[in-house]
Amino acid sequence: MRILIIEDERKIADFIKRGLKEEGYAVDLAHDGEQGHFLAKTNNYDLILLDLMLPKIDGLSLCGQLKKEGVSSPIIMLTAKDTVKDKVVGLDTGADDYLTKPFAFEELLARIRVILRKKESGTVTKLQVGDLELDLLTHKVARSGKEISLTAKEYSLLEYLMRNAGTVVSRTMISEHVWDIDFDTFTNVIDVYINYLRKKVDSGFSKKLIHTIRGRGYILKE
Ligand code: CA
Repeated sequence: MRILIIEDERKIADFIKRGLKEEGYAVDLAHDGEQGHFLAKTNNYDLILLDLMLPKIDGLSLCGQLKKEGVSSPIIMLTAKDTVKDKVVGLDTGADDYLTKPFAFEELLARIRVILRKKESGTVTKLQVGDLELDLLTHKVARSGKEISLTAKEYSLLEYLMRNAGTVVSRTMISEHVWDIDFDTFTNVIDVYINYLRKKVDSGFSKKLIHTIRGRGYILKE
C-alpha cells in the first residue's frame, strides 16, 4: 500500500512518514499543494493524507481539484482546525475522512485501515489463499496454521500479492504500490524480496503459492 503525505510542516510530515514506513507502507512526501497535486496525478496512490493549510494550493481546493480530475485515491484531511464547519466543508469536497491535529499515531493508523478496508470489500480483515492466511489488523501471517515471521517490507509485498491473488502483477505494479518514489528501477530488489518470501512462505511445502511468470511478473495462487 502506497501513501502520499501532503504536509508543509516537515517535522509532522517526517514523523508520519517514519511511522507509516515502520508499518510497511510505502510513503511519498509533498511539501506544498502544487507538488502534492503533481504526485497525486502521476502515481496511483492507495491513500492520500492531505493537510488543510498548505502553501501554493490549500488542502480544500486541492481535494476538490483532485476529485474533479478523476483521481480516485481516498483522501484523509489533516486539519489543525476542529470546527464543525471545516469538517463539513472537507467532506463536501470529497475527502473520505478527517483527523484533527494533534492526533495520536495509533488513531491515524486505525483510520487508514478503515479506509483501505472500505476500498476493498466491506469488512474484510483477513486475506486467505489456500492455507496461507494474512490478518490485516494484527499483521500476523500463517501457513497451515503455523505463524510466519516477516519484516515490514516482506509483509507489505505479500499483502499486495494476496490482494491481487490469481492476477499477474508486474514489477512496475509492485514498485508502485509497495515501494516509494526513491525506488530504483534498475535494481533487482523486488526479485530479492520475492525470494525472501518464497523461503518463508513456500519452502517446505510441496504446493507452491508464489509463481514467476516469465517476462511478465509474479502471481500468487493455489
Ligand atoms: Ca500546514
